[in-house]
Amino acid sequence: MNQILSQSRALLSESDPAIAKLLADEARRLADGLELIASENVASPAVLAALSSVLSNKYAEGYPGKRYYGGCEYVDEVELVAIARAKQLYGAEHVNVQPHSGAQANQAVFLSCLKPGDTILGMNLSHGGHLTHGSPVNMSGLIYKAEFYGVSESDGLLDYDEVRRVAQATRPRLIIAGASAYPRVIDFAAFRKIADEVGALLLVDMAHIAGLVAAGVHPSPVPFADFVTTTTHKTLRGPRGGIILCRADHAKAVDKAVFPGTQGGPLMHVIGAKAVAFGEALAPEFRAYAETVVANAKVLAGELVEQGLKLVSGGTDNHLMLIDLRSSPLSGKDAEERLGRIGLTVNKNTVPGETRKPMVTSGIRIGTPAITTRGLKPSEMKVLAQAISFALYPTEEKMEQARAIVSDLCKKYPLYDGVFASAGYSVPQQ
Ligand SMILES: *Cc1c(COP(=O)(O)O)cnc(C)c1O
Repeated sequence: MNQILSQSRALLSESDPAIAKLLADEARRLADGLELIASENVASPAVLAALSSVLSNKYAEGYPGKRYYGGCEYVDEVELVAIARAKQLYGAEHVNVQPHSGAQANQAVFLSCLKPGDTILGMNLSHGGHLTHGSPVNMSGLIYKAEFYGVSESDGLLDYDEVRRVAQATRPRLIIAGASAYPRVIDFAAFRKIADEVGALLLVDMAHIAGLVAAGVHPSPVPFADFVTTTTHKTLRGPRGGIILCRADHAKAVDKAVFPGTQGGPLMHVIGAKAVAFGEALAPEFRAYAETVVANAKVLAGELVEQGLKLVSGGTDNHLMLIDLRSSPLSGKDAEERLGRIGLTVNKNTVPGETRKPMVTSGIRIGTPAITTRGLKPSEMKVLAQAISFALYPTEEKMEQARAIVSDLCKKYPLYDGVFASAGYSVPQQ
């Protein structure tokens, strides 16, 4: 394991052995299995170093140069570097790096441009949308009037004619594009056109694909959207957190909606770690990583189909795929459990045309960001697909083989001794 990680662990194990043991257990869990949850990744030691730094001590309510506390001269610089790098990465006119999470970023955008009771139009949660896009159990669905569009159940693809139809019928103030479980490229130009036709603002939530957009392996929503929100911890591979990109004319309203609108003091250690992650994403190695994420997903999807499994939309253009178990006696919950037993961590997920309950589901979502960071290549996707298929429809012998495949891959690509040790990240200086 990486030296930085073991040093900080040694410190903690003297002062708090109970928590130190749990951290060690979690590190071992990560190292001994393969992480296939599409929204997770492995942050670099540099990102982790910024996260566990003295920046966590600082109160810095406000923005650089306009704080409510003294002693902000260095955290001001940290936040300015984070903003400059994010602008460079995405070509955005304005960036707010303070949102604590993706959900907080969305909440702030809503507050910046909506009044309670206004209509919003987002993607159906059971078709791959996100809770914060108008679910009745989320504040977005409680405070605003939420309408939904979905994918066509026959091919699993976003139905832009339906988006237009619902938009014309419901006249939303804000249309939200973006998903948590959509395996295909989203046509942001089409969403812009529909928004213009009905006089709506457009928010693109690129939480899942932000790393692919940064590397240019997925089209960017920035030229088309009024607001773009994202998490920083998924394909972008930074610390857990959120950011908002927007056009200059929305800058003031967005900043006010983040602070004092929805948050108090910014998490300066996380903002420092965001700056580090944006720097890493600007380096040439990041493009190679993002290309491999997509290549791994494409090959894995093809191999799963080869193994006789059904995928929503038949495959993938991005970092994730959805196994469709609607016609299988196996539920998403069963499949999650079986894959867990051979060391593959995945999550059950609803699929379009879902028939089972939300805690059971008929789908499995599989993503390649974390295994790509760990070093796995397209040439290894065939055996991985075999392990998945063995575990889903097992015999005693196949289960053993599946376990052996995963264990061999884990040994070949140790956590933190792989990509970060060898890539030689060169962060461009501002
Ligand atoms: C993950 C995700 C979020 C929420 O991010 P959190 O940091 O968990 O709050 C928002 N929108 C989409 C589309 C996501 O996939």
